[in-house]
Amino acid sequence: MRISVIGSGYVGIVTGATLAEAGFKITCLDILEEKISDIKRGISPIYEPGLERLIRNGLDSGNLNASTELEKHIANSDVVFVCVGTPSNEDGSIDLQYIENVSKTIGKSIKDSEKDIVVVVKSTVVPLTTEETVQKIILEESGRGRETVGIAMNPEFLREGSAVDDALNPDRIVLGCTDEKSKAALMKIYEGHTCPIMHCDPRTAEMIKYSSNSFLAAKISFVNELANMCDKWNMDFEMVAEGMGMDSRISKQFLRAGVGFGGSCFPKDVKALRRAAKNDGLGSEMLDATLSVNEKQPEIVVNMAREILGELKNKRIVVLGLAFKADTDDVRESRAFNIVEKLKNENVEVIGHDPQATEAFAEESGITCTDDLEEALRDADCAIIQTEWNEYKSIKPEFLCNLMKKPVVIDGRRTFDNGYFAGTGVEYVAIGLGN
Ligand code: NAD
Repeated sequence: MRISVIGSGYVGIVTGATLAEAGFKITCLDILEEKISDIKRGISPIYEPGLERLIRNGLDSGNLNASTELEKHIANSDVVFVCVGTPSNEDGSIDLQYIENVSKTIGKSIKDSEKDIVVVVKSTVVPLTTEETVQKIILEESGRGRETVGIAMNPEFLREGSAVDDALNPDRIVLGCTDEKSKAALMKIYEGHTCPIMHCDPRTAEMIKYSSNSFLAAKISFVNELANMCDKWNMDFEMVAEGMGMDSRISKQFLRAGVGFGGSCFPKDVKALRRAAKNDGLGSEMLDATLSVNEKQPEIVVNMAREILGELKNKRIVVLGLAFKADTDDVRESRAFNIVEKLKNENVEVIGHDPQATEAFAEESGITCTDDLEEALRDADCAIIQTEWNEYKSIKPEFLCNLMKKPVVIDGRRTFDNGYFAGTGVEYVAIGLGN
């Protein structure tokens, strides 16, 4: 089976590299020359633990190839996975321009071929998109009939930071097939997996993805609201979360309070689902609340800094962690932008630190960023932890006392155990810790 993966970003390259590892012949396609030439040289275009090793394995075994020649490779493929981005429009609705462009390219590529092909949408798209946009454009553009072009929606659930492991060992696989051809191809591709495989129609598969992300985002906002109450009433939300998590219906996962969710998926997916519902006359009060709580969380750490330092003007504050979460270099919708923006508005000298994401963050925010922790902390009045990198967990109190002008740590991710800094001279506050 020859498989092409269109779009070699976070989802595409992980899909390509893990399928190549499973023994399939994969070509990763992208319009960006630089990305493709990196992959061909065994360099991962993104930072993701374990990914570069898989890319090199794939190149060495001959199972993985990369190219910018989309039409040629699509025409030779039995299956193509669509993994291009689906960002937000200004009004929060899904921007389908990349999906539409790729659908046209697929249609053109298979126009003169008699070979059967299966097109699998892995990008996150709002319900009905696979049938009413992707399938429609491909059939129109190619002039071919439904019987030779299989169409399916197979949502991706990987998490950045553990993407390789998630792709190799998913909790579940959802197959929204329109026909037997695509079902047979996908069952062959996923036959090595032992997790549950659920079959449904494409629109249900699309909705499962949005519902899952929206539920997780809502859980975070709900927990953050509870943590803010715990702050007010002077108790540690972590203990409350521990008690809640013992209920198997609630589960321990996603009960961490903090500065809110960011990343390339939760914010845009919640907005897209909300907009799609509104367009069809449906209310979405839970989604509205999920987003509005999330917008307020970054303000809390800035308020904490003001309470401790007084006027923030001309203070030097370090934001520790710029990536939207640990173990990724992805800064899309990172809460660090919101925190930095608020600090800049108060004329703070803001320094950003991150082990992997300084370049992208500096370019977008305009602040000075470094991957040198010592340099970042030197003479700082305060450090705000925004990403829970392991590197921060091992910071010793003496290190902060020796370097910082005022050893103040404001923890936006509950990185440290309560009591870690007790009696060390470091002033420590955290969201949901109480006083
Ligand atoms: P990304 O921006 O990292 O990658 C998209 C890639 O598609 C880019 O490399 C871009 O150059 C390429 N591209 C754009 N137009 C193209 C075209 N016409 N032909 C070929 N390549 C083209 O995006 P991503 O984070 O990998 O997300 C892709 C999709 O998967 C989105 O719908 C997203 O919501 C979904 N998703 C993402 C994650 C995640 O953690 N990043 C997880 C699950 C689902």
